[in-house]
Amino acid sequence: AVRKKAEAEVAPSSGKPPVTKDSIINLDHGDPTMYEAFWRGGAGERATIVIPGWQTMSYFSDVGSLCWFLEPGLEREVRRLHRLVGNAVADGYHVLVGTGSTQLFQAALYALSPPGPSAPMNVVSPAPYYSSYPAVTDFLKSGLYRWAGDAKMFDGDTYVELVCSPSNPDGGIREAVLKSGDGVAVHDLAYYWPQYTPITSAAAHDIMLFTVSKCTGHAGTRLGWALVKDRAVAQKMSKFIELNTIGVSKDSQLRAAKILKAITDGYDRAPAAGDDDDDSSRLFHFARRKMVSRWAKLRAAVAASGIFTLPDELPGHCTFANETVSAYPPFAWLRCGKEGVDDLEGYLRERKIISRGGGKFGADGRVVRISMLDTDEAFAIFVDRLAAMN
Ligand code: PMP
Repeated sequence: AVRKKAEAEVAPSSGKPPVTKDSIINLDHGDPTMYEAFWRGGAGERATIVIPGWQTMSYFSDVGSLCWFLEPGLEREVRRLHRLVGNAVADGYHVLVGTGSTQLFQAALYALSPPGPSAPMNVVSPAPYYSSYPAVTDFLKSGLYRWAGDAKMFDGDTYVELVCSPSNPDGGIREAVLKSGDGVAVHDLAYYWPQYTPITSAAAHDIMLFTVSKCTGHAGTRLGWALVKDRAVAQKMSKFIELNTIGVSKDSQLRAAKILKAITDGYDRAPAAGDDDDDSSRLFHFARRKMVSRWAKLRAAVAASGIFTLPDELPGHCTFANETVSAYPPFAWLRCGKEGVDDLEGYLRERKIISRGGGKFGADGRVVRISMLDTDEAFAIFVDRLAAMN
């Protein structure tokens, strides 16, 4: 009985509490719980790992390699997945691992800032930009870099431009807006996966950031990776992670590797005849189907309400799906035209919907960002409430 109790104590938490019809619905963060339904199916078994007590004890993974804390198995699966999807060129790039892509973003700022006593590097991104960029850039008041706001308003030669494409918050496809001087771009491709947007070409930028959080839904694993062209920049980014956290959890890396392997294997396994609709082992198909259905429900609710607008659908030819498909962004960038609603975040909060107001993205208060990746239950209550607003 004592042993039973001890075992129960290390069971994982259940995450967020379940919602009911009258609950407050929190769609502020992009918490990707939508993916749970996929991993609860057969694919979940194929992604399971067991780590005996004596494994993953050393700090080191591959002594002598540039990123000495990167598990070779993870690097292999990252390269394999990019080859399958065709969303980024990985050949000729260094792979780095981070505790979420959030850590790699900070590593990139560190690596790109000039050494020595010069003025801090300016960090910019075109508005509306991901709200974490200013927050994460400035929270330690670094002498190396500082947030300098909307890239479209920036006038200077020394900068890092953060390019998020598809864009969080509005889903738009972005390219660097600044091309002059000594500027460098960091491409945050967290959402450049086929469930969210047509894959139109293999990205081949100098620094590209990815995360399992938005690719597979495993935000809690805290695992991101970077593809970096330049060896010196990759070395400095690796140094940042060494100084910041002495590497990245091997347990998380092994789990992420198994998860990515399960996805790629799921596509290698040819579907049986007549099995075309079976998405139980094809993650991108499963997630895309969900996104299509959620966006249809959201657009219907917006039409029923009459006081909101959404960005237009963006179609394109997807080389992964081999057909023309529309984009289904992970966030709804929802605008309200109703007279007197200048603080849409507050207006929705009074109606028990938590969203993130435009101000945090460098936009106005009549627009909010709403996560499209929450559970079916929360999403259904959200669209019902939205449809009834007028
Ligand atoms: N970039 C973008 C654009 C994001 O939306 C997020 C997560 N909200 C991240 C990076 C951070 O991802 P991670 O969980 O890997 O730190």
